Amino acid sequence: MADMEHLDWPFFDAKHRELARALDAWCGEHLQHVDHDVDIDAQCRTLVAQLGTAGWLNHAVAGEGQAIDTRAICLIRETLARHDGLADFAFAMQGLGSGAISLQGTAEQRERYLPRVARGEALAAFALSEPEAGSDVAAMQCSATEDGDSYLLNGEKTWISNGGIADFYVLFARSGEAPGSRGISAFIVDADLPGLEIAERIAVIAPHPLARLRFTNCRVAKSQMLGAPGEGFKLAMRTLDVFRTSVAAAALGFARRALQEGLNQAKSRPMFGARLADLPLTQAKLADMACTVDSSALMVYRAAWLRDQGKTITKEAAMAKLMATEGAQQVIDAAVQLFGGRGVRRGEIVESLYREIRALRIYEGASEVQQLIIGRELLK
Ligand SMILES: Cc1cc2nc3c(=O)[nH]c(=O)nc-3n(C[C@H](O)[C@H](O)[C@H](O)COP(=O)(O)OP(=O)(O)OC[C@H]3O[C@@H](n4cnc5c(N)ncnc54)[C@H](O)[C@@H]3O)c2cc1C
Repeated sequence: MADMEHLDWPFFDAKHRELARALDAWCGEHLQHVDHDVDIDAQCRTLVAQLGTAGWLNHAVAGEGQAIDTRAICLIRETLARHDGLADFAFAMQGLGSGAISLQGTAEQRERYLPRVARGEALAAFALSEPEAGSDVAAMQCSATEDGDSYLLNGEKTWISNGGIADFYVLFARSGEAPGSRGISAFIVDADLPGLEIAERIAVIAPHPLARLRFTNCRVAKSQMLGAPGEGFKLAMRTLDVFRTSVAAAALGFARRALQEGLNQAKSRPMFGARLADLPLTQAKLADMACTVDSSALMVYRAAWLRDQGKTITKEAAMAKLMATEGAQQVIDAAVQLFGGRGVRRGEIVESLYREIRALRIYEGASEVQQLIIGRELLK
């Protein structure tokens, strides 16, 4: 079992400690041979089904009147990321993709989607970004025009995780009640709806299902709207608020794995008549890596704990995401360095971590966006 000393920290309840230990053991049994060079869509579907069957996806959705347990989803993402990045992605997208339904769905919407998401039978996706609206997401153009008892959707969404394999998309579109962020509504769009097409599959450095979607007079029933007209932007931000800390937790999992791999390498690599680990510069590097891992963990679980106490964590979640994602990039880079040539060889764990971590500094609010949030909160 990996180093799980942090489970003794006071942020956790007994159920969290049990959850993390049980998941770590499950991952050791089920995630040893996840092949990222085969059909990534099929691999993702299999992982979602496995996570659903084992019950882990129950934590990604919230029952009526319940809140998502932030510490649980952070521990799950940290643990999955430490074992396998694609398994973390599969879990995260079930949560992010259905998060708006957990938060705001009617009883009928919840009943129709959430049990299937939790069982791993329906794949979820979150469609917010557009080619011209990423960080400045309120500039979105995708439109929803009222037409009888439905809305007609027109426009594009891009960088949509699970795009192409999702069974439904939670889509944010401009419905025009007011200018800017107050004129956006949220809809649940089933993937087989006429007028929705996958315009492009996007290949990225760490392969994940990703696509650009095009909507052409795509008719969605009014009953598929989430919340009230014009309330979609707020709902998107509330969803991201729940999951932002968990992105930091995933980065922490990647960093923890890199530290573990770096330590093993340093202890086993003979060098200059001793071991790589015996060189003072190596010990300094390992010390820096360990400090970064622990400071990220403290920030992640401070934010998660505060949120579970019902506190607003705008600043703390932004700090956790900024520190943990930027820190993980440094820790992983240091691990690659410890491996020398092997560090950049395809198939090495540190090489895949190096590719895996990069996008986390960009999505769900790039690092610069987190800096702005923290600055704004400090100056309030
Ligand atoms: C692998 C991956 C998966 C994704 N999955 C999803 C998904 O499932 N659903 C979804 O809706 N979106 C998804 N996204 C999109 C993601 O949220 C956007 O890429 C992100 O918001 C940045 O938008 P952009 O790419 O348009 O970059 P831009 O908005 O053009 O930003 C470019 C850069 O500008 C800088 N910047 C931003 N704001 C400021 C500022 N205020 N001051 C100074 N510099 C700044 C940052 O460095 C940023 O990286 C995903 C992206 C990736 C890479």
